[in-house]
Amino acid sequence: MAVALIAHGGAGKWRPGSDDDAVAGLADAVEAGRRVLLAGGSSLDAVCETVVRLEDNPIYNAGTGAVLNFDGFCELDASVMESRESRAGAVSGLQRVKNPVLVARKVMEETDHVMLTGDGAQRFARVMGFPDHDPVTPARRADWMDKRNRVDEILGQRALKMRKFLQEHPEYAGGTVGAAAVDSRGVLAAATSTGGVTLKMVGRVGDSPVPGAGNYADVRMAASATGTGEFVLRSLATRAIAERMGQGEALEQALEAVLAQLGRDYDADVGLIAVDAAGTPVARHRTRDMPHAWFSGEGPVASRMRVPPA
Ligand code: ASP
Repeated sequence: MAVALIAHGGAGKWRPGSDDDAVAGLADAVEAGRRVLLAGGSSLDAVCETVVRLEDNPIYNAGTGAVLNFDGFCELDASVMESRESRAGAVSGLQRVKNPVLVARKVMEETDHVMLTGDGAQRFARVMGFPDHDPVTPARRADWMDKRNRVDEILGQRALKMRKFLQEHPEYAGGTVGAAAVDSRGVLAAATSTGGVTLKMVGRVGDSPVPGAGNYADVRMAASATGTGEFVLRSLATRAIAERMGQGEALEQALEAVLAQLGRDYDADVGLIAVDAAGTPVARHRTRDMPHAWFSGEGPVASRMRVPPA
C-alpha cells in the first residue's frame, strides 16, 4: 500500500517575513513523519511525530507559542483519530503541557473516554507523566498586548463578539497545525492541535478536538481542518468529506464540495487537508494562506504557502 502524509500550519494570513519559516517548518515536520512511515511505522505514530514537531516550533499556534485567550493565558485543544475501530482521543482547555497531541493520544489509548477538558485533562496529563510546561512565549505575550489594545479601540464594550474583528484582520488568525496519513497497512490517522482563535473567551472550545469537526479518520480518508472553528463545528466538515466519499465521490471532489458549501453557508475562513486510503493528499483553503507540506509513496516532501488558483 502507498504511504502518504499531509500537514498544515493553519488557514489565515502569515505576516511577511514569517512565511518562509512557516513553509520550512512544515517541510521538516512532514519529513519526520515520512521517516516514521517509510520505516514501517503506523499512521498514528507518523501524524503524532509531525504534530509534535509543529507544536514545539513557536511560530505555529499550537503547543509552545500558542495564542493567548482574552484573559491572557493559553487553553490548548488537540485530538487524534485512527480508522482502526474509529478510535479517537482529545483534550481541550489544557493550560500547561508541552505536547497536547500526545495527551490526546493517551486519552484514546489509556482511558474509556474520548475527550478530557480543563482541570481533568491537566491532572490526567500529570498522571501520565507529562511535566509542567508554560507554552506562553514572549512574542505571543507581546502580540496579545497589542491585540487587546486594538480590540478595545475597535470594539469597545462589544469585545465578546470577536468574529467580525478577526474576519477583518485575518493577520490575527492562523497557525493551528494538523496532519493526516495512511500507513503501509492501509490504516488512516489524523491529528490536530491548536491554541484556538486568538482572544477567544475563557472556556471556548473550537473544532480541533472534536471528532468529525476539526479532525477525522475512517477507512476512506483522514482529515484535519483549520480556520474559524465555529463554522467547522456547525458543518462537521471533516466528517462531511467522509460521507460524500461514502456516496462515491473521490477525495478531491468531496473536499472541494465541502469547502464550497462552507463558503455558501458562512463565507467561512477555513482550510482542509486530507489523504485517502490510496495515498492521495489534498489541500484546499478559503483564506489567503495555508502553509502545507506533503509526500506520497516514494516521492520527496513538497511544501508551499498556498494552493495556486485552478
Ligand atoms: N480551528 C481553530 C479553532 O477554531 C483555529 C484555527 O485553525 O485557526 O480553534
